[in-house]
Amino acid sequence: MRVSDAKHCGYIALLGRPNVGKSTILNYVLRQKIAITSRKPQTTRHNLLGVDTEGDYQAIYVDTPGIHSDVNKALNRYMVGEAKRVIDDVDVRVLVADAERWRDEDQKVTELLLKHKGGRNVAVLNKIDLVSPKEKLLPLMARLSDMGFSDVVPISALRDEGIAEFRQLMFSALPAGQHLFAEDQITDQTTRSLAAEIIREKLMRQLGDEIPHSTAVMILKYEERPDLVEIHAEIYVERNGQKRIVVGTEGQRLKLIGQEARQDIERLVDCKVMLHLWVKVRKGWTNSAGLLRQLGYD
Ligand code: GDP
Ligand code: MG
Repeated sequence: MRVSDAKHCGYIALLGRPNVGKSTILNYVLRQKIAITSRKPQTTRHNLLGVDTEGDYQAIYVDTPGIHSDVNKALNRYMVGEAKRVIDDVDVRVLVADAERWRDEDQKVTELLLKHKGGRNVAVLNKIDLVSPKEKLLPLMARLSDMGFSDVVPISALRDEGIAEFRQLMFSALPAGQHLFAEDQITDQTTRSLAAEIIREKLMRQLGDEIPHSTAVMILKYEERPDLVEIHAEIYVERNGQKRIVVGTEGQRLKLIGQEARQDIERLVDCKVMLHLWVKVRKGWTNSAGLLRQLGYD
């Protein structure tokens, strides 16, 4: 065997209904925050690649927006389409479910996923920190392996329990192949688009449920100077009332969103960041094909 034959590389899709912890798992596997997360469903909008390389093994994770049945808006249809698109194309499909509760939507995603027999199908039960005693996990674990998953892995991403084992299992499931990314590359996203996602995360976390998924972020200017990155970004909302909420009394909320986003972006780019934010009303953007395309959802 030649040395190059020892290399392994493959794609792993993280699939499941929204809010089960797919993006959190990816961040913990990579030990770096590339995927934004929040308590609100449908935080992730695009498929996002996270690359994990160790020695001869390169695991390329695809974090998906989650599969759900509320597809009456163009943005939602786009997000579910993104998730389904990868199922056929990957080497390993990982169903992520909430260990606390099995729902109809988990069952639906499972059936969709198990139709695909090529490669390997693995189930992850996340949030086991919320389950006690741990014996309560056993019936669901048994059911999942009966359904046809080759492995069923209990983890708690937030407590970093089971992540290392999951990561090794993923390496062991990779087919032989040359690496597709440089060893030190951890994502396919540009820092510019990661910056937009970080701003959207702070928005989602700062806002109550009153503005569920009506916001988008467009980077107007991203300028790298020797010791500073200057970013101008617009936040889109659908209505005037939403704009007032995002801006807050005397601009306090927008200021807080800007401060939190700037700190995270500074950590990402490892230098000082100057961030300017504006809020704009774009009526009906979540259902407008043209605007969705401009924002990169196409
Ligand atoms: P996604 O929609 O599947 O990508 O889910 P996220 O990664 O955005 O996580 C949804 C929520 O679940 C967030 O509030 C996370 O902090 C939380 N979460 C993720 N993993 C765990 C876990 O292991 N335990 C607990 N208790 N919460 C978690
Ligand atoms: Mg997500």
